[in-house]
Amino acid sequence: MERIPYRKTHEIVGYTYDAAMHSTTCARRRFGDLVTFEGNEGIDPAYPLLDREGNPVYPLMLEEVREGDVCRDCFRRLNE
Ligand SMILES: [Zn+2]
Repeated sequence: MERIPYRKTHEIVGYTYDAAMHSTTCARRRFGDLVTFEGNEGIDPAYPLLDREGNPVYPLMLEEVREGDVCRDCFRRLNE
């Protein structure tokens, strides 16, 4: 039986903005270090990020991602 690696369900695997889900890599390409909080993935609550539509950018937790959800930019699966 294949061993499933331990992962935290609150691990940030991407972000939602511009009405779509995006990988952490693509979010970093777009927002740079603004998607880093205290050295980890995340958004500093003191500096909320806004997307093109003026909506807040939200971190996407592993537990919120369904099988087959992909990044809108690179089409990489978000739960990998
Ligand atoms: Zn991506």
